[in-house]
Amino acid sequence: MSYCKVIPAVARVKPAHLFGARLRSTAAASTQHKELKSDDAPLDPSCAVVEKPCEVDLISRKAHTERQRISIDFDNTQEAYKSKDTLELLRSLLVFKLCTFDFLVDKNKELMDLSKKVFGQRLFEKLMKMTFYGQFVAGEDQNTIKPLIEKNQAFGVGSVLDYSVEEDLTQEEAEKKEMDSCVSEAEKESHGMDHREKKYKAHRQFGDRRGGVISARTYFYADEAKCDHHMETFINCIKASGDSVDGFSAIKMTALGRPQFLLQFSEVLVKWRRFFNLLAAHQGKDGMAILEQKLELEQLQDSLIKLGVGAKSDIENWFTGEKLGSSGSYELSVCPKSGHLEPLLSKFTDEEEKQMKRMLQRMDVLAKHAVENGVRLMVDAEQTYFQPAISRLTLEMQRIFNREKPNIFNTYQCYLREAYDNVSVDVELSRREGWYFGAKLVRGAYMCQERSRAAEIGYEDPINPDYEATNRMYHKCLEYILEEINHNRMANVMVASHNEDTVKFTLEKMNETSLSPTENKVYFGQLLGMCDQISFPLGQAGFPVYKYVPYGPVNEVIPYLSRRAQENRGFMKGSQRERSLLWKELKRRLFSGQLLYKPAY
Ligand SMILES: Cc1cc2nc3c(=O)[nH]c(=O)nc-3n(C[C@H](O)[C@H](O)[C@H](O)COP(=O)(O)OP(=O)(O)OC[C@H]3O[C@@H](n4cnc5c(N)ncnc54)[C@H](O)[C@@H]3O)c2cc1C
Repeated sequence: MSYCKVIPAVARVKPAHLFGARLRSTAAASTQHKELKSDDAPLDPSCAVVEKPCEVDLISRKAHTERQRISIDFDNTQEAYKSKDTLELLRSLLVFKLCTFDFLVDKNKELMDLSKKVFGQRLFEKLMKMTFYGQFVAGEDQNTIKPLIEKNQAFGVGSVLDYSVEEDLTQEEAEKKEMDSCVSEAEKESHGMDHREKKYKAHRQFGDRRGGVISARTYFYADEAKCDHHMETFINCIKASGDSVDGFSAIKMTALGRPQFLLQFSEVLVKWRRFFNLLAAHQGKDGMAILEQKLELEQLQDSLIKLGVGAKSDIENWFTGEKLGSSGSYELSVCPKSGHLEPLLSKFTDEEEKQMKRMLQRMDVLAKHAVENGVRLMVDAEQTYFQPAISRLTLEMQRIFNREKPNIFNTYQCYLREAYDNVSVDVELSRREGWYFGAKLVRGAYMCQERSRAAEIGYEDPINPDYEATNRMYHKCLEYILEEINHNRMANVMVASHNEDTVKFTLEKMNETSLSPTENKVYFGQLLGMCDQISFPLGQAGFPVYKYVPYGPVNEVIPYLSRRAQENRGFMKGSQRERSLLWKELKRRLFSGQLLYKPAY
């Protein structure tokens, strides 16, 4: 049987404490920012095919009692490509066609390097701007991207700015950086006797976290100055997003500090949750949904005494009724086999402690900038060995900054077996504590890497068994949040997906609950250059929809372009559909004499 000890000395691992009182004082600042006006959203009813001809009803929640169903025709290419001239359509077709050649996709980096040498830098840049760069990247900097952002906005599509410059490291360099930044001094000295779980340790063969990942960018830690530089870049993005109505900005926590801290904190959180499951099992509540596992205080204290954790007098004050649940944050020592207690968190050196604090300070600075600029900050989800910490730290920011409105959004990856537990526990917490829940729902970008790491290192695969299970999980999590919105207008969700069925499912659920798009509770998100047939009809019908808008100099966004080429490989269902819709629109323009069509805005 596991032998566990709980010690009520939380402060060392409790992020709220790490943020400190300074952070709390800023919450009031958010009240000064403009409230969303639901009636202001762009609306083009010609795009929405409404079953009963009264679409105004759905868009404004004013006088009517019975609202109309809305349905959007995602095959209407005229609406989908209304913002594109014919040259842009041809460029899209060319780019998606090039992605059907495996050789070009597999060797895209080598080919780009070769073209640079053959054509020279200037011609290479021109070629890229006419093709891949022009399709997937908005421009070089905050100024050059403005026309595209304004155009999209005019057609109802907002922007999440995403500075996409990436280091072009070799695999060896990436592995070295990872090993240097994920192994603590204590771990080095312990020579493998530190009782850390293998999942939460760095492994050289998976040190290059870019492997098998095509939808997401990867940051490697170099030093604190580099993290400061990333923070400055994010601040610039936030400021630029502040220029647009209702802006969002995305950040990645691995860009903001030494990942060793995320690994260690994730391990603590996971062990803590497991410990609660053990206590729940003692009360015959194992196998129950996590929200049902409410522990009886007296029984809990008895269990702890039986486990040898401490005397009754020690334990009595550790818990208050409302703190019971899986989100507590007590320091925990566990030793399932040897019979000795071991701390969950190995000691940090002074330097490591400083680094950890600076990471939290950077997040604090970003959150404040977001609030000051009226921009919502979306924290991306990453690998499962970092994600518990990322999610928890984001939640701590939400507790502080989401008191007046949803300024901070967390991300939930529905390919995870535990996704529903994660979503439901956090929603419950927001409800109990009275802050605005904000979530971006994705399927998840790291599947192949997660699976092979779990298989090779030897721990349970965290991913759902198959694609259908992930789809079910996505819809289950989404339904849960939509129900919450229905009961209590404090929850908010971004459906970040290119999957048309998921978008239709969301619309259907919004219809069922008469949730108006202009209430700005449900957002949609896609990447620039992908799935315009989803984004633009949604935008024109008044739904808040956003493109992740990457930008950066041509040479420095090549890794990003390389991933876009892979994500749009010819055999992908989404890419095939996009090509056929582009053809359809091209033919329509040809036969209706609109080949010279220019979008007016
Ligand atoms: C705006 C936006 C923001 C994003 N932010 C993040 C983020 O912060 N973190 C992140 O991880 N990802 C993020 N993504 C990427 C996202 O997680 C997906 O990888 C990508 O969007 C493809 O999923 P889909 O729903 O669009 O399409 P689909 O093509 O329907 O789904 C593909 C996805 O399904 C899952 N899947 C496929 N096969 C299987 C299988 N056999 N078993 C189990 N699951 C399977 C995988 O997650 C795969 O990526 C973001 C995507 C968008 C559009």
